[in-house]
Amino acid sequence: METANGPVPDPELLSLPARHLLDLSKYSASLNGIPLTPVVTSRGCPGACSFCSSSSFFGRRWRSRSPESVLAELDEVYNRYGFRAVAFVDDNFSLSPERVIAIADGIRARSYDLQWWNFSRVDNIVGNPQMVQAMAQAGSKTVFLGIESADDESLKTLGKENQGEATAKAVKLLQENGIEVFGSYILGHLNETAKDVERTIQMAVDLNTNIAQFSILTPYPGTPLYRELKERIFLKRWKFYDALHLVFRHPRINRHLLQFLLIKAYLRFYRRSKKAKDDFRDYGKTQDSA
Ligand code: SF4
Repeated sequence: METANGPVPDPELLSLPARHLLDLSKYSASLNGIPLTPVVTSRGCPGACSFCSSSSFFGRRWRSRSPESVLAELDEVYNRYGFRAVAFVDDNFSLSPERVIAIADGIRARSYDLQWWNFSRVDNIVGNPQMVQAMAQAGSKTVFLGIESADDESLKTLGKENQGEATAKAVKLLQENGIEVFGSYILGHLNETAKDVERTIQMAVDLNTNIAQFSILTPYPGTPLYRELKERIFLKRWKFYDALHLVFRHPRINRHLLQFLLIKAYLRFYRRSKKAKDDFRDYGKTQDSA
């Protein structure tokens, strides 16, 4: 893959981020109340999810740093900067289970008291229980999963076919290992009716992840979804591309109804138990400090 300035760089060959040039006190994101710093261990994602802009930025070829390189950065953030929490912000941190296990083993070998979260895919999690165990033993606290929809047809058009039954297994496996799950759902796929959206909301309630995030399907420029919906887009002001607004003419759901369903999703998910409210409040505190 080429960029306007030449071939994309191999992330293994890049120097470590120059955190010393930043006023780190101005960056106050936290995990469980512990200040965190982001760490990028790979770029690109071979997934072909139609709504996702990742491959427009970083390409579909996954390029990863070696465990040694990642651990060298962790040594620096832990010992030089004193961080006790990190966010692995790669689009697909766990694509290579062997690499994740090697990183986790390295954290344990150093006896670091480090907490971390990362993005992952359902199929990577459910197919690799050994990796999940290693992650938990090395301080993994939260995993973000793109669960997306209860509707098989929607998953197929989004590029996440075969995910349906695996989702519950992935959530269970993570939670059994003491790792919290941040589930992300997209409401209003093209084929969906209001009833289908209600099924996704019910699925979120049944899965009982620690956090649920609901978004309205949004066609971001550069994505296959944008190309597909271009003629239907009626809102072009970027401030509405926040996944809280419907910006295209949906063939089956009225715009106001979908916005109502979005609010309903949050109310149904977080009002069902004291624990759900507490999780929401704790997550909100993390966001406030971010
Ligand atoms: S949504 Fe996730 S898995 Fe799908 S293409 Fe984007 S980064 Fe890859």
